[in-house]
Amino acid sequence: MGRRVLRNLLGRERETLATLEEEVIVVAHDLSPSDTVSMHREKVIGFATDMGTKTSHTAIMARALEIPAVVGLKNITREAQALDTLIVNGSHGSVIINPDRETLKKYRKDRESFKVFEHELVRLRDLPAQTLDGHKVVLAANIEIPDEVKYVKEHGGEGIGLYRTEFLHLGRSDLPSVDEQFEAYKEVAQKLAPHPVVIRTLDLGGDKFLSYLNLAPEMNPFLGLRAIRLCLADIPLFKDQLRAILKASTYGNLKIMYPMISGAEEVKEANQILEEVEEEFKKKGIPFNKDLEVGAMIEIPSAALTCESIAKEVDFFSIGTNDLIQYALAIDRVNENIAYLYQPLHPAVLSLLKRIIDGAHKAGIWVGICGEMAGEPLFTPLLLGLGLDELSMSPIVIPEVKKVIRSLTIKEAKELSRKALELSTAQEIEALLKDMVGKIIPEVDT
Ligand code: PEP
Ligand code: MG
Repeated sequence: MGRRVLRNLLGRERETLATLEEEVIVVAHDLSPSDTVSMHREKVIGFATDMGTKTSHTAIMARALEIPAVVGLKNITREAQALDTLIVNGSHGSVIINPDRETLKKYRKDRESFKVFEHELVRLRDLPAQTLDGHKVVLAANIEIPDEVKYVKEHGGEGIGLYRTEFLHLGRSDLPSVDEQFEAYKEVAQKLAPHPVVIRTLDLGGDKFLSYLNLAPEMNPFLGLRAIRLCLADIPLFKDQLRAILKASTYGNLKIMYPMISGAEEVKEANQILEEVEEEFKKKGIPFNKDLEVGAMIEIPSAALTCESIAKEVDFFSIGTNDLIQYALAIDRVNENIAYLYQPLHPAVLSLLKRIIDGAHKAGIWVGICGEMAGEPLFTPLLLGLGLDELSMSPIVIPEVKKVIRSLTIKEAKELSRKALELSTAQEIEALLKDMVGKIIPEVDT
């Protein structure tokens, strides 16, 4: 409020992250996912925040837009001053304030080598994601907005494993119309065809808020009225999105996926609503794909533990490890104070992954993973060995993950995951993975 009064007294226009005129590194206490989406891509060359974690949607968005960023630094806003020179090392999660000339020179050189390494990896784009003994896995991409499709193509993604459609709703004061949603889905479907595009229905709530839905503030938003719960509580909102998806389904290879499923009951309810919308289309003679695959995200432990009954209701699963880890380990995924406890390699997480993958295969359906875990080259051998059919990640990491896949055999990966499942701590499992990845491709940063 104070700043607003001063700005008005001085008669200055407010500079926003979208209207910057020169290149900057943004230092902020916190940034919301919609702040990140609206950043001026050429002018914001990096950002650093006090709050957040690697799996907060602000960090996920930075990775998607290929903006170097470090979040959860706790007091960077106190330590850095305007006009300071900063080095933002997104790969290692560190920021250096006013580096000396030698350090600056070293980092400039490192940045160049990083670009060369990236460039070399992109040459893998047209090669299959296949192990040395011929086992293939699908490498798909996660996107938030249609603009990201170009990064997917540049990095060799074989379709979209997760389209976070709620981003169309963020940072605005009104609901997007069915047509606006349809246009976005159609654009992505057409650009990626014949590859599949998994459209996740709205996953609002948690750290993705909307002002115009006027939802009551919640003490535990990640455990609250979120995602499919919100859609089942606001059926007109849900039906509008399903109408947009069905309408776009004739323009490419679309699939539907429900987020935050806790058990078979919710899937049945969502499928019932989808059927109603399909009936409406049939009555009106509007064309749509009648063989649309429908999937469930498995990201709540209760869904993992009842995956056999959920599998009867859907055509595929996609494991959302960002949430699965937070719910299994009781670690708020956006709280930087407990980020050290957020352990993707915790034996409990591995055992849930195994259970979901085996459950899906027993039921004869395919299973992918679309949490940030999928994009960590260190975890690739383990995920392959556990039997995943698809890994979906930020486009930028696809080439590196592909390099790992192309450097090992499925036999080695299976042996590794068998050993990992016998270990009792995340540290031991990490050491096992580092040992393997370090041996097969020393150039991957473990
Ligand atoms: C997940 O939870 O792993 C996931 C992919 O979805 P989101 O990060 O959008 O919650
Ligand atoms: Mg999730």
